[in-house]
Amino acid sequence: MTTPKRTNLIGLSEAELMELVQEMGEPGYRGRQIYHSIYARKILEFSRMSDLSASLQRELAGKFCLALPSLCSQRRSADGAVKMLLSLEDGQKIECVYIPEARRDTLCISSQVGCAVGCTFCATGTMGLRRNLTAAEIVGQPLFAAASGMVPRPAFNIVMMGMGEPLHNFDAVMKAVRLLSDPAGMAISHRKITVSTSGVVSGVRKLARQPVVPNLAVSLNASDDRTRSELMPLNRKWKIEALLDACREFPLDSRRRITFEYVLLGGVNDSPEDARRLARLLRGLPAKINLIAWNFNPDLGFVVPEPGRVQRFKEILQEKGFSTFLRKPRGADIYAACGQLALQR
Ligand code: SAH
Ligand code: SF4
Repeated sequence: MTTPKRTNLIGLSEAELMELVQEMGEPGYRGRQIYHSIYARKILEFSRMSDLSASLQRELAGKFCLALPSLCSQRRSADGAVKMLLSLEDGQKIECVYIPEARRDTLCISSQVGCAVGCTFCATGTMGLRRNLTAAEIVGQPLFAAASGMVPRPAFNIVMMGMGEPLHNFDAVMKAVRLLSDPAGMAISHRKITVSTSGVVSGVRKLARQPVVPNLAVSLNASDDRTRSELMPLNRKWKIEALLDACREFPLDSRRRITFEYVLLGGVNDSPEDARRLARLLRGLPAKINLIAWNFNPDLGFVVPEPGRVQRFKEILQEKGFSTFLRKPRGADIYAACGQLALQR
């Protein structure tokens, strides 16, 4: 006889867990206790939830499970970054990268297996979309990192800059953001969670209306529509101006800014003229600019920008008054740097 598959409780909200235990004839607050055990205390075995009776622990274990993505392999970079290759229930693989930083560490998580946007400079883009992640698989990444002891410090920022276009998997991503930011659970403030988009304008507008609004990062990557459409096919549907209009209307409380990511591709979008055009585009927006020198990938046909041009690009933006940072490629030696998250063989 095959045992019936147990339902995974990871990814359920507090209200859903309360309803579930009530259906079992238990008082609703038991659901709240389970929720607190999972997300606040990172307890992932019913038998260790000491505030539940032994009989309830057994009943839960008979019907349900608490399953996270499992670790397939990990690599540590000389700079301290840790790339985790995680396996999902159906055997698909995603990557999750831990990046230690001086003030607060960052966990870069995936939102999809592959990506449908197909940016020509991005390794994930060459995979196409395999499938969306569920809310359980998205929140399962930080939960795994925190519960497994893989990361040295339990408090970290979260950026959705791994595999996938988060706004193409809107509902699951938003459910994960609500779970991650819930003060009664994982309690990672929405100000410490960043959703990065390639420019899904409808998604940016929808994000703006959510009850919990995370930080927004926009991968701009070009200063004119012709270049951007070549690099990012999605720009044919949503042009730069439409994207920036949605950004202008994005609700930002005090001190919050939109991050604009700009991958510098040698000879393609890294000229001083590009920098000046970019400054004109972003004028008046509460913007922070993150420049990233393209991480080399032999299959994609681009070249790494010259350091002098990168420097000049940055200086022009700074002279125009923009907070501009050159993102260090972290974990480049283990292929964990951005855009290298397609499965390495
Ligand atoms: N799909 C979302 C989030 C994941 S991509 C988005 O595009 O924003 C995360 C970032 O990595 C994006 O800013 C993207 O432009 C950048 N990126 C992709 N490939 C890269 C590469 N080879 N080198 C440097 N940055 C890259
Ligand atoms: Fe997808 Fe982002 Fe890569 Fe573009 S850069 S293919 S949107 S993951």
